[in-house]
Amino acid sequence: AVEVHDLHKNYGTLEVLRGVGLMAQPGEVVSMIGSSGSGKSTFLRCINLLEQPKSGRIIIDGEEIKLKPGKDGNAVAGDHKQVERIRARVGMVFQNFNLWPHMSVLDNIIEAPIHVLKEERAAAIDQAHALLKKVGLSDKPDFFPGQLSGGQQQRAAIARTLAMRPKVILLDEPTSALDPELVGEVLRVIRQLAEEGNTMILVTHEMQFAREVSHQIKFLHQGRVEEEGAPAQLFTNPRSERLRQFLSRTN
Ligand code: ATP
Ligand code: MG
Repeated sequence: AVEVHDLHKNYGTLEVLRGVGLMAQPGEVVSMIGSSGSGKSTFLRCINLLEQPKSGRIIIDGEEIKLKPGKDGNAVAGDHKQVERIRARVGMVFQNFNLWPHMSVLDNIIEAPIHVLKEERAAAIDQAHALLKKVGLSDKPDFFPGQLSGGQQQRAAIARTLAMRPKVILLDEPTSALDPELVGEVLRVIRQLAEEGNTMILVTHEMQFAREVSHQIKFLHQGRVEEEGAPAQLFTNPRSERLRQFLSRTN
C-alpha cells in the first residue's frame, strides 16, 4: 500500500503541493488528473524521493519515510539506506521512456536486477525474456532503444520497471510523448498490469482510460485535491465547477 498524508512542497516561494493525501491499497489504481502545473508530477516525484517534500508523511508498504528539515525549507530523507530500499520498491515510468540509449533492450532490463537486487545474471535474463513477452516485445531483446518506435520504447521501459518487482508503480503520463497511433499499445500493457492487481498511481490526460482502469481518481488544482472519488461518480457527476470545466476542456 501507499499512504501519503498532508504533503507539502515548495519551490522557493512557490507552493506547489499544499496538503495532498492519498491512500492506495494493494491492487488499487489511483489516477491523478488536473491541469498543467497543478502539481501531479511533483507529487509522484516526492513519493519516489526524487524530490524532497517540505512536510507530510509518506508510508510505502508499511514503512514510513524518515524526513528531516533541510536547508531550503523542504525536508530531506534522513536515511540513505532507506532511500535505496524505497526506490527499489517504487517503480517509475516516465513520459520520455528513459532507457539507456547505449544499451540493448535486454541489457536495460537486467541492469537493475543484477546491480541493485544482486540477482544472478542467468535468472535476470530469464525474467527479462518473460517480461518482454508480456509487453509484446519478444523479438526485440537485442535492439537498441533508437531502433524502436516510441510505443515499443515505452513498453520496454515498462518491462524494465517491472524487472525490479516493484510494490507500487508510478506512471507519469506514460503515453503523452507518443504519436496517437502508438498510444493504444501502451495503454493495453498498463491495463493488463491493473488487471493483474498491481498497485499503481497514474498521472494521465487519457480521461477515458483513467475512467476504465482506476479505482479512485484525484483531481488536483493548484497543489490541492479539489475533488476525488470513484471514476463513475467523478466523471459523470462532478461536484466542483473547476472539475466540470476541466472535463469539458479535455473531452
Ligand atoms: P503537467 O500536466 O504540465 O505535467 P504537473 O501537474 O505535472 O503539470 P508539475 O510538474 O508538478 O505540474 O509542476 C507544478 C508546479 O511546479 C509548476 O508551476 C512548475 O512550474 C513548478 N515546478 C516544477 N518543477 C520545478 C522545479 N524543478 N523548479 C521550480 N519550479 C518547478
Ligand atoms: Mg507533469
